[in-house]
Order: sequence, then structure tokens, then C-alpha cells
Amino acid sequence: MAEAIEAAASVVNRYPDMGSVSLYEALSERLGVPTSDLAVGTGSVALLYHLVQAFCEPGDEVVFAWRSFEAYPIAAAVCGARAVMVPLTSDGRHDLPAMAAAVTDRTRIVLVCTPNNPTGPAVGQADLDTFLESVPSDVVVVVDEAYREFVRLDDPLDAVGAYRDRPNVAVMRTFAKAYGLAGLRVGYLVAPSPVAAAVRACALPFGVSAVAQAAAVAALASEDALLERVGSIVAERDRVAGGLREQGWTVPDPQGNFVWLGLGEDTPRFAAAAEEEGIMVRPYATDGVRVTIGEPEANDVFLAVAEAFTPKV
Ligand SMILES: *Cc1c(COP(=O)(O)O)cnc(C)c1O
Repeated sequence: MAEAIEAAASVVNRYPDMGSVSLYEALSERLGVPTSDLAVGTGSVALLYHLVQAFCEPGDEVVFAWRSFEAYPIAAAVCGARAVMVPLTSDGRHDLPAMAAAVTDRTRIVLVCTPNNPTGPAVGQADLDTFLESVPSDVVVVVDEAYREFVRLDDPLDAVGAYRDRPNVAVMRTFAKAYGLAGLRVGYLVAPSPVAAAVRACALPFGVSAVAQAAAVAALASEDALLERVGSIVAERDRVAGGLREQGWTVPDPQGNFVWLGLGEDTPRFAAAAEEEGIMVRPYATDGVRVTIGEPEANDVFLAVAEAFTPKV
């Protein structure tokens, strides 16, 4: 991958391939999906913005769980759409029946973040199927799978399978997380061709750089090696979650590369205690902290911080 990046970086005087042809072809082959049903973009956040832009008029509604990915309310607001935020269950999961019930005739898009950033739990196939049955087919259901490579469920999602079966399912993925290309800004959408075409039409020309295109193609070609690293992160994640539970913490099922502590009012105090030991956690107001899994030594320091902290949640 480093070689592909270096080679592409040596010709930055040229515009990138506007059609991102090699990347579309590589994705099409890898996923078994026609290129007409794909849209690549400058990160999946950009694809989300394009989707909202393409489908929402001011006053239309975008339904999503909360707390979830912070870009969701912003993407809705940019287009004057109304963000309908459906509270997570107490164990940090999407409340899919409540989300289905929140759909109105103004709803254009429902976002399903799985695993949920920042709380961790992932949606299983059976629950997604039940949910899709109850959502009208003219509402686009976006399955945001930014952390899919880290999921270890008995009933994992086949979101691309759901897209194949239905006219209204879009799958959003990114090279930013498991593939380690966050700084290059590249992600993709798999969706029925009218949806994918609408998203492509909103994208800025030449958005995905030549370096990003080359790196993404190379990442797909060396997927096995990249995903090995994911395996060791998953092992550490499960070790950290197990350690926290042994200390008496309640930890929502972590299926991403992070764990969540729902600390409520204690959130800032916990973040400060961690920082004192050199550990950066991500505080979310008075909801909780998301702790990204790091090297084993750093995870041990974090576990010691958690052990010393009272009260636990
Ligand atoms: C990181 C993340 C994204 C996308 O990131 P990009 O860098 O824009 O590809 C999308 N959704 C969730 C839930 C994320 O955590």
C-alpha cells in the first residue's frame, strides 16, 4: 500500500482519474456489484452529505439513533432536514422498533449505525430484517458499516445481501478505520442504481484524490494482511471489556475498535483521571466516554485508571 501511495504521490501535478475507474472496478469485483450501484466519495461522511442533499428537501426527516455518529445531525442540518433522534436502549443498542415507529410521511432517510459509534453494539441480521419489513420501501435505509471488520457476532449482518434483496437499502463503508486510510479520505456506498446515481451526481468532481484511489485499490488487494491486524485489535478489545466487567463496570457489547463507559455526570472527571495517566479517551458531554483500543500496555494503563475510579457504572 505504501508503494502505491508513493507512486501516486509522484504525479500530483496531474488531476486524478475523474471517474475513479480502477477503484470502481476493484469494488465491483470484490463485492459482486455492478459499478452502476456504487458511489465512491471523500470518506463516507461525504457520501452521507450527498445522500441527504439528494433526497431531502427542507422539513424532510432523517431518522437515526442517539447517541450515535456525530456527523448525522450535522448532515441533516446542512440540508435543512429535521433530525429525528431516537434514544438508544439502556445497553447502547439501536431501538429498531422505536426507530420504525418514528418514520412518518416526511421521512426520507433512516440511518442505522452498526456497530454503533460510540457505544459499540452491532445490529444482527434477524433484527435488521424485521426492521426493514416495517419501513416503507420509499424510505432509504442507510446501513453505516464503518467498523464492520471488527464485528464478531453469531448473527452478523450481510448488509450487501439486504441491498440485493430490497429497493431501498444503501450500505456505507469507509477505508478510514480497519484499512487505516483515515487521512486519505475515501469511502464507498453500495445502493440501488437510482440512489447510487443520485449520490454520484452530488459529488464534487475530482474529489477522491489519485493517492486515495491508488491506496484504496491496493488496500483491497492486500485485504488479508490488513485484516490480520484487525484480529489482534479484536482480541485486545475483548480482553479490555472482560477486565472492565471483572472490575464491576457495565460495558455495552463492543463490536467496534473501542469500548464505551456510560459515565453520565462523571464523564469529565473520568476523562481527566485518564489524561493524568497519559490516556486520551473521548468524552461525550455528560453521556460517557469512548475508549479506542490501543497497544496492550496502554490498555493496561486504562484498565488501572478504570479500576481506581469510583463509582463504577
Ligand atoms: C469514522 C466513521 C465514518 C466515516 O468516516 P470517513 O472517514 O468519512 O470515511 C462513518 N460512520 C461512522 C459511524 C464512523 O465512525
